[in-house]
Amino acid sequence: MKIICIGRNYADHAKELGNSAPAEPIFFLKPDSAILAHRHPLFIPEWTKDIHYEVELVVRINRLGKYIEESFAHKYYDEIGIGIDFTARDIQQECKTKGLPWEKAKAFDGSAALSRAFLPLTELGGEVQDIRFTLEKNGEEMQTGWSGDMIFTVNQIIAYVSQFMTLRMGDLIYTGTPAGVGPVKPEDVLVCKLADKELLKVKIK
Ligand code: MG
Repeated sequence: MKIICIGRNYADHAKELGNSAPAEPIFFLKPDSAILAHRHPLFIPEWTKDIHYEVELVVRINRLGKYIEESFAHKYYDEIGIGIDFTARDIQQECKTKGLPWEKAKAFDGSAALSRAFLPLTELGGEVQDIRFTLEKNGEEMQTGWSGDMIFTVNQIIAYVSQFMTLRMGDLIYTGTPAGVGPVKPEDVLVCKLADKELLKVKIK
């Protein structure tokens, strides 16, 4: 199983980090060892001083495919989850400056928090580009997202990524974060809601 993450997929978030909107999807991978289950704590590693949360809709691939056409991409998923793409922003900045890969900043243990459940798309209204989600930190809403704001739609992402790598059943796609990302510190509690349902809670240690 692989975890594919899309970067800069919401214009307001690209802007808040000083990036321009990309001309084609930007993606990177996290290993399965990065998954952090609902209600499991995230221990801040000793090698970073700046871990950020990024709440994202997560699409779970339900069949094998390569070179998937955009018009068929909707057949490759039927459930949506929510996750946090934890990012060591200081290390990411260092990697970017040196022109190095981002894995140290993005693929560490616990960096892919994942909801306790995935909701059937039909239960969410059936339209993947019309889903609302939020992240609260210590009870305060920090990020609100609407999938209609994605620069590249879920189907475009699937079509794009599947040109380079085979998608398999169980693969996860983190589809990018809206604006409002920020740092965490020990004792913070993050709660993520998908269509008003609380599906992911993470305590920072
Ligand atoms: Mg992200």
